[in-house]
Amino acid sequence: MPTLNYEEIVTKISTEKGLTREEIEVKVKAKLNQLSDLISKDGAAHIVANELGVRVYETPSTTPKKVSIKELNPAFKNVELLVKVLKVNEIRSFKTASREGRVANILVGDDTGTCRLVVWDEKQIKELEQGCLKDGCILKVMNCYVRDNNFGGKEVHMGSQASWVVDPAGETITNVKSAPVQNIDRKFIKDLQENDNVSVVGTIVQIFEPRFYDSCPQCNKKVENRGDGYFCSTHNQVASVPQAILNFVFDDGTENIRVVCFRDVVKQILEVDDLLTLKDNPDKFREIQRKVAGKQLTITGRVNKNTFFNRLELTANGCSETNPKELAVEIEKK
Ligand SMILES: [Zn+2]
Repeated sequence: MPTLNYEEIVTKISTEKGLTREEIEVKVKAKLNQLSDLISKDGAAHIVANELGVRVYETPSTTPKKVSIKELNPAFKNVELLVKVLKVNEIRSFKTASREGRVANILVGDDTGTCRLVVWDEKQIKELEQGCLKDGCILKVMNCYVRDNNFGGKEVHMGSQASWVVDPAGETITNVKSAPVQNIDRKFIKDLQENDNVSVVGTIVQIFEPRFYDSCPQCNKKVENRGDGYFCSTHNQVASVPQAILNFVFDDGTENIRVVCFRDVVKQILEVDDLLTLKDNPDKFREIQRKVAGKQLTITGRVNKNTFFNRLELTANGCSETNPKELAVEIEKK
């Protein structure tokens, strides 16, 4: 993913936000001071752009993302979902200062949970009026987006780009898990507390060379080298597999935090399939480092206390790319 350099970022902020170069540099300097030695000038410029909602990299073309209800995440675009219709609710009219129209909401479920499907487009609302959806029918929805609701869960929205197929051939859902999915909280870094399970949206501002440890091929846990072989506390003697562990500093404009991640998350963040190519290869890593600093992500994980440094760290168990525009809207909303 190509990112912009310092000059390009300043120019882009200036054109999009009408700020002078001096005004932007004041913001960058403030960010540098705030983060002391943790970031480069480029990194600070990335964060400033991020906070202003200016996109600093080219987003990859959006391909449909097939997900289950449990996996719903507001960072996803073009969501595709296969669900069972549980209840079609009444169609309501609404009027705001800028817009009036109709909206329908439908309770849907799959084998991971239930959620609300919100329909905004007249095309689908007319089909609903004609009774195209019966309780119990299967629905494939495409090109949807995901929003947080007020109850800590997620809902799927169908805007003008969205479409659906009723009872698609060959598709069934046998068991609907009836409970709504409790999604993890989205939080600002400044509000994180030990043992939180959270998702955080921010920017990678500094990234460190991955380290490798010997792990058990069955459970991924660290193995002990006893001289005559490697031993896992659960699986006894095993062949050891090198595993990457990656550390980076993540900033959301409110604070920054050290993130630790392993395995697939490392691959995803570095965009490298074979992590072993990075082992003892600082040149290759530096190349990647340049590409990855400034990357905007949604990280989900658990907040742990690093007792050695007496600081909180986020152990990532998943990540997805974030659209900066949406990020800005979200920050404004809060
Ligand atoms: Zn093991």
